[in-house]
Amino acid sequence: MNRTMTKHIAMSVGVLAVVGAGAYADEPKTAILLTGAQVLDLSGERLLEGRDILIIGKRIADVAPAQFVQTPDDAKRMDLSGLTVIPGLIDAHSHLLLHPYDETSWNDQVLKESLELRTIRAVPAMRATLEAGFTTLRDLGTEGAGYADVALRDAVAQGIVPGPRIFAVTRALVATGCYGPSGFDPRWDVPKGAQVADGEDGLRRAVRQQIAAGADWIKVYADYRRKPGDPSTPTYSQNELNVIVDEARSAGLPVASHAVTSEAIRRSVLAGVATIEHGYNASEEVLALMRERGVALCPTLAAAEAYARYRGWEPGSPDPPRIKQTKEMFTRALASGVTIACGSDVGVFAHGDNARELELMVDYGMSPTAALKAATITAAGVLGRADDLGRIAKDHLADIVAVRGNPLEDIATLRSVVVVIKDGNVIIDRR
Ligand SMILES: [Zn+2]
Repeated sequence: MNRTMTKHIAMSVGVLAVVGAGAYADEPKTAILLTGAQVLDLSGERLLEGRDILIIGKRIADVAPAQFVQTPDDAKRMDLSGLTVIPGLIDAHSHLLLHPYDETSWNDQVLKESLELRTIRAVPAMRATLEAGFTTLRDLGTEGAGYADVALRDAVAQGIVPGPRIFAVTRALVATGCYGPSGFDPRWDVPKGAQVADGEDGLRRAVRQQIAAGADWIKVYADYRRKPGDPSTPTYSQNELNVIVDEARSAGLPVASHAVTSEAIRRSVLAGVATIEHGYNASEEVLALMRERGVALCPTLAAAEAYARYRGWEPGSPDPPRIKQTKEMFTRALASGVTIACGSDVGVFAHGDNARELELMVDYGMSPTAALKAATITAAGVLGRADDLGRIAKDHLADIVAVRGNPLEDIATLRSVVVVIKDGNVIIDRR
């Protein structure tokens, strides 16, 4: 655990003193009135002055000028003067069961760390995420840790441990010979960081298994390298991808596709996936196709930066090829008008550092306003939860973050989180 994290936990102990089942998720009994802050409006593009926010139970009961809000007498008042209130942030691509590769390589995490250790390590990772203002994660694969994401999701939902709301995919789907750990003598049957499944029968069975185990989404690796150091190539056929999406759809689940090559992106989009992950080599043609079919992109810029750092690159020195490539792709993606959601691939780098993705989006040409939307309104839409997440709006879940400064002008203000409220529970209050 690093010092920052220790400090965060120490600072929040006062708020989270009562530990027990339900301690972190019970419906709050006292109403809360937030006053004095500037509040991000419904469009996510403007800050409103003079709005009070009334929270009753888990939801926002009202957002209006003070004189119009009917506040219960026993409401707890929180003066947020000088702060900016935004919706709880959403990272649509995380790996809670991974930790930074400069601590332990991905191979060693998958092959040597026990499921129990990995699961326990995810608990402070969830807390760090929540304290950074990220109240919702779509966790895109346990990377060999079985169905531990479902357990984490349920533990948070039951109030056993504090953490963000989690959308889980469980193990993810990979084709035979198309995922790591790889590079071993072919005689050895080495465990993989995802579920290996091929062909119509195999894929339908695997999708059904994952759904039965609690998946909220299905994740597929539509391309990958066949050996360490090789370039990515498409893994699943068009028909196999069609089968995955068809089977998931039968159960009402959307599909996320890891795809960096244009061909894998094209096949995934034609199959009907909801999101493309990474998309590092996306051509203008496939970006246009994504836009046409309403498929969102999670660019995972922060992961690309982390990989470069792990290979010796230092921020400020000339861009290595990997970062050049991501910048070019992101420029094309912005120009194409494709929907871009905040998906960072956190876990490759430190949990709680999710906002790095938004900083890089802005560095690479997106406006701070659009970046903030990518982690709020847009991400909520991608999750199919535009009706109760991603906005400070009446009847939405009370996931609320107060920061110092104006994130519409300076995205780095997302690093100065002062208050975090999730489901109406005050998680941190550092006023
Ligand atoms: Zn990932």
